[in-house]
Amino acid sequence: MLKLICFLKAYRKSIFFVLVLVFFQSFSQLYLPTLLSDIVDVGIVQGDTDYILKIGVIMLLVAAGGTICSVVANYLSSQVATGFAKDIRRKVFSHVESYSLHNFNKIGTASLITRTTNDITQVQQVTLMILRMMVSAPMMCIGGIIMAVSQDAKLSLLLIVVIPLITAIILVVSRKSLPLFKLIQVKLDKLNLVLRERLTGIRVIRAFNRTEYEKARFVDANADLTNTAIKVNRIMAVLMPTMMLIMNFTTIAIIWFGGLRIEAGEMQVGSLMAYIQYVMQILFSLLMVSMMFVMIPRASASAIRVNEILEITNSIKDPEKKDSAIIKSGLLEFRNVTFSYPGAEQPALKNISFQAKPGEVTAIIGSTGSGKSTLINLIPRFFDIDSGSILVDGTNILDLSQENLRKEIGFVPQKALLFTGTVNDNIKHGKKEATKEEIQQAAITAQAEEFINSMTDGYNSLIAQGGINLSGGQKQRLSIARALVRKPRIYLFDDSFSALDYKTDAKLRAALKDETADATVMIVAQRVNTIMNADKIIVLDEGQIVGMGPHQELIKNCEIYREIVSSQLSEEVIA
Ligand code: ADP
Ligand code: MG
Repeated sequence: MLKLICFLKAYRKSIFFVLVLVFFQSFSQLYLPTLLSDIVDVGIVQGDTDYILKIGVIMLLVAAGGTICSVVANYLSSQVATGFAKDIRRKVFSHVESYSLHNFNKIGTASLITRTTNDITQVQQVTLMILRMMVSAPMMCIGGIIMAVSQDAKLSLLLIVVIPLITAIILVVSRKSLPLFKLIQVKLDKLNLVLRERLTGIRVIRAFNRTEYEKARFVDANADLTNTAIKVNRIMAVLMPTMMLIMNFTTIAIIWFGGLRIEAGEMQVGSLMAYIQYVMQILFSLLMVSMMFVMIPRASASAIRVNEILEITNSIKDPEKKDSAIIKSGLLEFRNVTFSYPGAEQPALKNISFQAKPGEVTAIIGSTGSGKSTLINLIPRFFDIDSGSILVDGTNILDLSQENLRKEIGFVPQKALLFTGTVNDNIKHGKKEATKEEIQQAAITAQAEEFINSMTDGYNSLIAQGGINLSGGQKQRLSIARALVRKPRIYLFDDSFSALDYKTDAKLRAALKDETADATVMIVAQRVNTIMNADKIIVLDEGQIVGMGPHQELIKNCEIYREIVSSQLSEEVIA
């Protein structure tokens, strides 16, 4: 909680005003019953109309002032609380953006979403409450007691009985409900997870007839959350009526004993009326405090969860000293690189050494799971390696800032991922300030121009979430265009041609050749056709290089490569 509070700094002026306003509002509330008792005990008893009018006007003014203070305070405090939440949300979002891929797995996407939305809302609500009650609750309670005692000290013996009773009830209720509130947050995470999986996997679920199973899973998670929420609310529901009951009994007792005192001439009617109001104010302030007792730990559970996000620091760090190195040629070199995924028994890549030169195409081929994508992912530093080094233009990539490094890389991932927006927007992801011509040129090279033009709004056509209104091949071509528009020094294509038909594949590669003539190009592919003409082919098997060289050479002396080629060529002949 403490760490998040520093986000409130920006609002200290507003907060100060809120506190001052609430102070005046509480003050006016405390003052009103006294004025009332003056009217009754002095004005009416003496039959002094002028006096009654005078005090009446003062009462009106005090009440009006209190109302205005309250309205403005509410407005300002809402503004502070929502702004506060907005700032935290922004911070969390930008922090998550800097996460390495490992960090994501630590918390999990579902929980990240709940934390950024629901948990921050909890913090926001409690901030609002604290702002309003921090000053008013203690003031009303202590002020109320002082005023009540000053009206009639003897009657105040009643308070000695009532206040401890109410405090005890509040303590019991909050002790019972707190653990449940914490549980709710966890169950909400679970619900979110199930729902996300169900929505993103809807096709698979339907295809495998798992709808019923998934439904049951959702119903379970939902019921679980509901039951916990009901339990909490049941406990909280007891609180209100019990408090009302105690208040009403207190009123009866005050009137009873107060009546006796009036009869004995020890007290006046106006004082009694004021007294009742003060006691109500005291009890209400206790009720407010009790709400805070419940809300604060609940919000602090949320705050801790939000903080966890902020506390995970990126394990992939920029170098200490500022680098000024600019990647000029794009010469890429792996020196004895070994890398393992955290928790994996075997390294995914072992002793990898090779050079990929500018102006050449370096291809990687190998069976699935041989480590091709892993190798490509190491270059933009999605993961850091265990040993060895990766150099670009002779500089270790650890000594380059991530920004400088990634600026010169055009990355086309294995799974084409597009964003909601237009075709234009998606290609512009590669280069913010790309001109129309540049975008079009990239699309032409990527063989995407034709199908883009056939879409209803051409380059302004909308792409649905995740690009579901495009075919796999179309998505791949757009993500290739996105990399091309950058005109980087290094191109990384991770199996980016797999969804294209042979003809488009060939056309695209021919067009790429001109576009990427002096850049370093790395292509991962399954099809021998795609990479046959590469300057250098690296054959990967179980994370190790088992052959390297041009096609002709490999055919002669690499057993595994020969196997791959023969399996595919015969396939094609059959087809
Ligand atoms: P390829 O692209 O050649 O099909 P990958 O590089 O994707 O292969 O995977 C190589 C190996 O690393 C596989 O055995 C796979 O199980 C493992 N692997 C891939 N990604 C991860 C990951 N995020 N966490 C743990 N292991 C992984
Ligand atoms: Mg792969």
